[in-house]
Amino acid sequence: SIRVRFAPSPTGMFHVGGARSALFNWVMAAQSGGTLVLRIEDTDASRNSPEWTEGIIRALAWLGMDGEQYEGPYFQSANADKHAEAAHTLRDAGRAYYCDCTREAVIARTGDQHKGYDGFCRDRGLGPGPGRALRFRAPDEGQTTVVDLLRGKPVFENAVIEDFVIARADGSVTFLLANAVDDMSQGITHVVRGEEHLSNAPKQQLLWEALGGEPPVWAHVPVIVNEKRQKLSKRRDKVALEDYRAEGYLAEAMRNYLMLLGWAPSGDREIVPWDVVVDEFRIDDVNTSPAFFDEKKLRAFNGEYIRALPVEKFIAECLPFLQEAPFDVDVSVFAELAPLAQTRVALLAEIVEMIDFAFLDEPPFDEKSWNKAMKEPAAEILAAAEQAYLDVPWRADELKDRLERVGQEHGLKLGKTQAPVRVAVTGRTVGLPLFESLEILGRDRTLARIAAARA
Ligand code: GLU
Repeated sequence: SIRVRFAPSPTGMFHVGGARSALFNWVMAAQSGGTLVLRIEDTDASRNSPEWTEGIIRALAWLGMDGEQYEGPYFQSANADKHAEAAHTLRDAGRAYYCDCTREAVIARTGDQHKGYDGFCRDRGLGPGPGRALRFRAPDEGQTTVVDLLRGKPVFENAVIEDFVIARADGSVTFLLANAVDDMSQGITHVVRGEEHLSNAPKQQLLWEALGGEPPVWAHVPVIVNEKRQKLSKRRDKVALEDYRAEGYLAEAMRNYLMLLGWAPSGDREIVPWDVVVDEFRIDDVNTSPAFFDEKKLRAFNGEYIRALPVEKFIAECLPFLQEAPFDVDVSVFAELAPLAQTRVALLAEIVEMIDFAFLDEPPFDEKSWNKAMKEPAAEILAAAEQAYLDVPWRADELKDRLERVGQEHGLKLGKTQAPVRVAVTGRTVGLPLFESLEILGRDRTLARIAAARA
């Protein structure tokens, strides 16, 4: 059975692109009874932080990755001995050599900063020493063909693969070597990762072969772009999974959406249960063209996922957001409001402003809404509504009826009649259905707010 891995470097907030790669791997493992190995590539101590590592682990758990299919996390830094040993093996076998060329010296010789290493030290027979890096001796002839499930069999001419560094002068090994050695020692059969690593695949495959391994099957998944077709970047775009979570995206919506970045289920469906994803996903069906990360669409997905929740689950999902709210929430009152709100939020964080009027002592003051709603004949309507609501049975349908009649007396439709009442009671011009809200708020508070608005 297959063994795949997700091998992030903990150098920043966990990115939606990383999450997409992790999910593709996860689904491949799940559908074949295989294993997903999580390997934290933490060898660049200057750029790592435990905080980023925790963020990755937390995010993967949030997306639902755990259970038998899941192995790890392993830490690349714990494998340092194996990496060093591989470097020595390659050296002893004549597949790697020491080199003391500076970058400047190489450019001075080749006259081209993009050309790469010119092989100057190949046959100098240098031993180890200060300022000497170890380079892999790439074959001069022939071709390296990688089997990529998305791209057929890209062929790389060995002659254009430079003699790349596998261990730096300070003894630390490079990404190319550490990553390949770990994949080998962890028995990885399929490497599924971002397209930006495609050019590394022939180099890593050469390392596998030189170390006596059977190279993996590769799959380099397409880049993710923003609406301007620019590659998503953490400087420019909102890419941190944590930020989406904080706004109230549901994990189920997020992972469904992330799977669509390069892939689509059968039929016209996009929103599909996870078992359908696991059933239908085929890595070789993934597209190679850039995948557009469409936040609007994700938001719409999220609204659909929210509406599909059982109401108790919706309430539970809202509670963490309400705990952050600047007022105390009576959960039993919230439970009455929840069904009204559930169809109206696209992001869970929106719940706070939607229901705050029920928990604040006064409706939240918003000058713009106030000015908009309190035009003539608002004062008269409020006075008439207060009067009409004094003895009405306190039920939404009755409340609506009475207000409708008040409107008729002023030659106004219900929508216009509602506006000042809504702003007086909720502070806003839009929100939950008004009369149900009033019913939940109760007569005393409703009347007090209308009276206050008239004063
Ligand atoms: N640590 C590398 C990265 O985060 C892993 C690349 C790979 O999956 O091979 O880009």
